[in-house]
Order: sequence, then structure tokens, then C-alpha cells
Amino acid sequence: MADKTYPKKIYHWIEDREIESSPGDFIPKINPADGRLLSQITRGNEKDVDNAVSQAEKKLTEWKNTPIISRANILRQASILLQKKRDEIAQIVHLETGKSVKDALAETDGAAELGFFYAGEGRRFYGKVTSSAMPDRSAMIIRKPVGVCALIIPFNTPIANVAWKSFPSLLCGNTVILKASSDTPYTPVWFAKILKEAGLPEGIFSVLQGKGVEVGNALLEDERINLVSFTGSEETGRLIAQKVSSRFVKLSLELGGKNPFVVCDDADLDKASDFAISSAFSNAGQRCASASRIVVFSSIYEKFKKMLIEKAKNLKVGISDSDNLGPVINEKQLNKILTALQQAKKEGVKILIGGYRLTEGKFKKGFFISPTILENVTVKSDIYDCELFGPVTSLHKVRDFKEAVALANNSSYGLTSAIHTNNNNRIQEFIKNIQAGVVSVNGPTYGSEPHLPFGGVKQSGNGTREPGIEALDFYSDMQTVYVKHDPSAV
Ligand code: NAD
Repeated sequence: MADKTYPKKIYHWIEDREIESSPGDFIPKINPADGRLLSQITRGNEKDVDNAVSQAEKKLTEWKNTPIISRANILRQASILLQKKRDEIAQIVHLETGKSVKDALAETDGAAELGFFYAGEGRRFYGKVTSSAMPDRSAMIIRKPVGVCALIIPFNTPIANVAWKSFPSLLCGNTVILKASSDTPYTPVWFAKILKEAGLPEGIFSVLQGKGVEVGNALLEDERINLVSFTGSEETGRLIAQKVSSRFVKLSLELGGKNPFVVCDDADLDKASDFAISSAFSNAGQRCASASRIVVFSSIYEKFKKMLIEKAKNLKVGISDSDNLGPVINEKQLNKILTALQQAKKEGVKILIGGYRLTEGKFKKGFFISPTILENVTVKSDIYDCELFGPVTSLHKVRDFKEAVALANNSSYGLTSAIHTNNNNRIQEFIKNIQAGVVSVNGPTYGSEPHLPFGGVKQSGNGTREPGIEALDFYSDMQTVYVKHDPSAV
């Protein structure tokens, strides 16, 4: 799909149709690779929210009563279509985000795998059968749909983000309203069309476009919404939590990270530096799991620093398959990162490599930042615990293992973490003491899989997990059932 075949106007998806907002305002969608207008997005309002929620509410009984295996079969069919049409969606993701087609294809394949995983769960939708203290009474726990779900997603891995929330929520028998990110507006609409083609009945899955503060707020205020699943920044997550707290809505918050990547003195430095580079800079650092604090033992610090700088120098910036990282998503994000770097410099932070916008030639109008490594970031620096969500990481020198773990834990976040060492005692102690939802030993901070729960502790979330079977607990209500019988009455 060339630029010209990306839709020039992007609409809501309600009642299985693309619908424009009334009175017809639009928000521009800019291509981050060249700064040009890619499309215009219909700007949603309360009326659109009301329309989508009404549909979702109306269709709830039908979808709830559809046998779960039939629901799963539709999701399986959607996953097959995702695979068949992988080139099409990868082009859309490529245009919306500026990531390479190769990376967008990998993301699409991951989204399809996730769909297959949940389709399989349709045949394993286990509850529990347990004992009862009362004679002649059986006890069990079954899962029921929660109701109408509002799914709010970020921009960074658009088709994966859509898949992570849509597949489990639909499998569990809920109807869904997905609020698209204005940075990646067409991906969920394309996905909605795939669901329709796969046989999903009308009105069960809707997509709303528009600004978070407008359409997002209206969605959260609608009392017919029974569940909110949000992935995005800590700041927005906090607003959402406040907004829905008085209604006791079921809420999942998957938020940011400032993830430590620890390199011990006995690590394989070549492998560790390869993983540190890919963990920090893939997807232009726009990953909640990105390695944004690299914590290195002092005895190998200078050697490791040299290796890291050399490898960072070899990274290729651009949007083709031979490049390693693309642009950041929009101009606001670009300026936020550059301002934070300027401020950090004033505070004495040293920029070892990068630290600037690329403006020459093919980069001229795009939002490209040169891969950046910082040094002398102290725990008091503003930038230390601030999630930049860009191609920026910082190096931190520590004396020993104890200091490494203490620094790794010195963050308000606790999403992912990594340690590189060949010492099993260090590995075990790290697993035991690190405050993070995910630990990677001798590997990268990325690579989550459909059957494994992902999520964080501290300010990285509210304790829920997606995907895996753990997500099914969130998207279902548990019902405890007691059945008493009378043996004398047979
Ligand atoms: P964001 O918080 O700016 O936006 C996320 C979504 O929330 C968007 O769809 C946006 O329109 C919507 N939104 C904004 N304000 C809203 C409001 N007041 N009410 C309702 N909805 C509102 O985040 P982003 O910039 O799109 O994504 C980057 C963030 O996402 C980073 O912090 C990153 O760490 C986080 N993230 C977390 C995970 C995870 O699994 N923990 C995964 C990916 C991204």
C-alpha cells in the first residue's frame, strides 16, 4: 500500500460500518517518517460514544449466549485472515508509525499467534469444581462475561495492542468498544473489518476515533461501561483510575517503565551489549519494556561503554527493512524528548552519543532522533525516572551486585528488568529481589509471548496481567455456584 492508498479519511466503526462524526470535525494524522499529512481522522464526541455503547449493550445478550467455541472459531478465523493479509496490515502499520515493514510484519505475526492462543482457550475455558463442607452440596466456580468493555490503547505496536485486548475480551463473551490512538487510527478499523469477514456479528466490536480527553472521557463517564482496559502512560492511567473509581468498574492499567538492564562483571559482554542495544533502541525506544537504564559493574564499565557506543554508532536509522530504528511517533513526542535532553545537559548529564534530531536528506521533515546514550545521570536528575519513550538510554556505574539491585529498584516503575551474568547465585538473588513484573536473564527486555502474562508492579500498573490465561480472569466475572441436592428424593 503506497501512501496514496491509505484512506484519506478515517472514521469510527460502529454497526459494522465506517461512520463520520457529526458535526464533522477532523484531526490530522501526520506520517512520522516525512512530516506530511497522511490522513484526516473523524473527531469523536459524546454522541458517537452513546451510539457505540448502545450497540454494544444491545448485542451483549446475543454474544454472551453464543457458545464459547463458536466465539473462539470466529477469533481463529480472524487470526487466519491476519496471517493471509499480513502484507496489507503491515503496510498500514508502517505508514502510521514509520517502523520498517519487516518489524510491522513481525508484529502482525505476533498478533495472529495471540489470536490462535485465545481461540484455543475457547476449548479450555476452565473454571473449578471444588468441595463443600455441607453434605450433598457441590461447589464450583464458573466464568461469566463482564459486559460492555472499553479498551483504550497506545500507538507503539498498533496491531499487537489491538490484538492483546480484543481477542481475550471477545472470547470471554463481552462486547467491545475500542478507543483508537489518534497516532495509529486506521489499524483498529482494519482489524474490525477482519473480524466482520471472520463472521463476528454486527455491533459486537466498535472502534471510536478522537482525542483522549474528549471521546475517551465520554466513554469512561458512560455508566453502561462495565470494564476498562487501558494501556498507555502513567499520567493518563492515573486520570482514568480517578475517573472510574467511584463506579467500581473493573479496571486494568498497563503503564510505563524505566527498565533496568544490569550487566555484571562476569557477563558475556558481547552478547550483553547486543541485547542492551536492541532492548534500548528497537522500535525507536517506544516500548514500555525498553532498557532505559543500563546498570554496569564499575570494573567493566569503561569496556562495556566503549562496546555500546561502537554498536550504537552502527545502528541505521530509517524506515526500510535494512534499518534498525525509525522515527518517534509525532512532533510533540519529538520535542518532549529533545527538551528533556537539553534540560539534562544543563543538570550535568553527559551525552555520549546522539542527543539530537536528524534533519539532513531523507530525515528532513520526519521525527527522527539519533540513538542516544547518556552518562552521569544521577537519581536526582529529572530524566532519571522519567519515561521518555524514545531512542534514549542511560549508563549507570555501580560497585557490585548489591548496589546494582538497589539502583535497579530505585524507580517508581517496575515493569521489566534484565540481568546479564553467568553466576547462578546472582541470577537467583536478582529474581528474588528485583521489583519488576518481568525478569529476563541473559536476554533482552522484549519478546513477550501470547501464553505468558505481562505487566508491572509499583507505578507500572494496577496488578492485572495481559495476555496469557491470566487475562481471562480479568475479562470474566467469577461466579461461585452451590448446588444442593436431596439423595432421598431420587
Ligand atoms: P497515552 O497515555 O498518551 O495514550 C494512550 C491512549 O489513551 C490513547 O488512545 C489516548 O488517546 C488515550 N487517552 C489519552 N487521554 C485520555 C483520557 N483523558 N481519557 C481516556 N483516554 C485517554 O500513551 P501513548 O503515548 O499512546 O503510549 C505510550 C505509553 O504507553 C508509554 O507510557 C508506554 O510505557 C505505555 N505502554 C505500556 C505498555 C504495557 O503493557 N505496560 C505497553 C505499551 C505502551
